[in-house]
Amino acid sequence: MTEQSIPASEPSLADVAVVGAGPAGLSAAVVAAEHGLQVVLIDAGRQTGGQYWRHPDERHRDAFSAPEHTGHHDWAHYTDLRERLAASVASGRLRHLAARQVWRTDAFDDRVALRTSSVAGTDSLPLAERTTWARRLVIATGAYDRQLPVPGWTLPGVMAAGGVQAMLKANQVRAGRRAVVAGTGPFLLSVAAGLAEAGVEVVEVVDANALSRWAATPLRALQEPGKLWEGVQYAATFLRHRVPLRTRTVVTAVRGSGRAKEVELARVDGAGRVRPGSSRTVTADLVAFGWGFTPQLELAVGLGLRTRIDVDGSLVIDVDDDLRSSDRLVFAAGEVTGIGGAIASCAEGELAGAAVAQDLGFSTDPRRMARHRRRLRRGRRFAIGMHRASPVPEAWDEWLTPDTHICRCEEVTAAEVTDAVDGLRADDARDVRVTARPGMGLCQGRVCGFALSKLVATGTGGVVDAPALESLTNRQVGVPVSLGDLAALVPHHPNQEES
Ligand SMILES: Cc1cc2nc3c(=O)[nH]c(=O)nc-3n(C[C@H](O)[C@H](O)[C@H](O)COP(=O)(O)OP(=O)(O)OC[C@H]3O[C@@H](n4cnc5c(N)ncnc54)[C@H](O)[C@@H]3O)c2cc1C
Repeated sequence: MTEQSIPASEPSLADVAVVGAGPAGLSAAVVAAEHGLQVVLIDAGRQTGGQYWRHPDERHRDAFSAPEHTGHHDWAHYTDLRERLAASVASGRLRHLAARQVWRTDAFDDRVALRTSSVAGTDSLPLAERTTWARRLVIATGAYDRQLPVPGWTLPGVMAAGGVQAMLKANQVRAGRRAVVAGTGPFLLSVAAGLAEAGVEVVEVVDANALSRWAATPLRALQEPGKLWEGVQYAATFLRHRVPLRTRTVVTAVRGSGRAKEVELARVDGAGRVRPGSSRTVTADLVAFGWGFTPQLELAVGLGLRTRIDVDGSLVIDVDDDLRSSDRLVFAAGEVTGIGGAIASCAEGELAGAAVAQDLGFSTDPRRMARHRRRLRRGRRFAIGMHRASPVPEAWDEWLTPDTHICRCEEVTAAEVTDAVDGLRADDARDVRVTARPGMGLCQGRVCGFALSKLVATGTGGVVDAPALESLTNRQVGVPVSLGDLAALVPHHPNQEES
């Protein structure tokens, strides 16, 4: 519990606040409102949809028509959620705060405070209204691209696969003419298919793992028949656009002066070690790297919620069968409880919305709750199969050269990280961070955190455990805010007028 005080004048208290309006948060907010709760839905985006249903700016186009050729799936489900959101807003039960980011949450005995700020620079809301109070909180902040450094990855034209797809989905902009899509996992197929459909020449899609790894757990793959059908559609797109898919292949270097021009590829063994003599080069002006996703946990770690390491090596929020976290006021849904994709995120959102309603004494349908839980278990089984079939190769760090940048923001090289471990006897990633500055720049370790923790663990003989990843995620202030917002945190003396 935090010592900040509840302001003297009783703030308006919602039943539940939901952070994130992606598949999970949107589902949670709508279901909670439909159970009769007073809901506040907060998202940094101007529009709902999150990563999966990211779409062009509605101020410039009709919101409900599915944008073509930008890899959207399940659009009908999105428009249904949108209509139910509009109905809940019209009924006065749901407030949607768009283009606002939650930079900190504080939990008290019976309520949670969400400190918010406008993403559009100057905040027109008076200070007191920038804090949202609620009896329960649902964290549905999603995930971002997980990245691995490779020589030349700081060149223009080298991007995260999700970023490439986001440019297509939101702006219908092609990030290059000739593309190599590399990394591991089914998301590569979605990105490559979207690029090919948009007219980009996809030279190769290279996956570090063998497809046969899926055969190890066939029953898991069958848990999400919709994903299998999606896979068939990608295969058809690849045939139509002559896109080659190469497995057990990685990008070992990107070269070019001022921009990516040449991409070095090599065959690897099961651990990711390069097979001697297998290197070759292709030309491309776009390299899209996708190594899975990293859940966005600043708010959760800031609240001190219990976390755990998931099958794919990600730090996730530890929740029970009703998605309640280690804090009884806080629930979590979507990628923050484990990377599982959009459909699983929707199912988690629905359960979280109903579970909060049940927790606050609103009537719920136990059979429906049981159906949600079964749906979740199925999605979870698929996700475990997906992570086991597409792991990050354990020997990825052998692709590095001493001058490869690990931290792009602070331009910290692999050699400098090694020096901090060997020379300065740094014990863990946090030590390396304060001595050599990786992760101290603009992204605060969001891009390099995963790789850095692995490199340091290898160097110190340690393990990448939850405390190690928490130390790289823990921020008392989740996103940059104004001094005024910070000043507003100072506990008020009951006799002191609110400024
Ligand atoms: C770039 C990208 C592209 C993807 N494309 C696909 C795809 O094509 N197919 C697929 O199956 N999966 C895709 N994924 C995986 C994606 O994570 C899931 O499909 C799905 O979007 C997860 O839903 P979610 O609600 O958990 O999170 P998200 O969709 O990520 O939604 C989280 C929301 O929380 C908001 N948010 C986060 N922190 C804050 C804060 N502090 N304050 C306010 N708002 C906040 C974000 O703005 C976002 O709108 C993609 C992921 C990424 C990163």
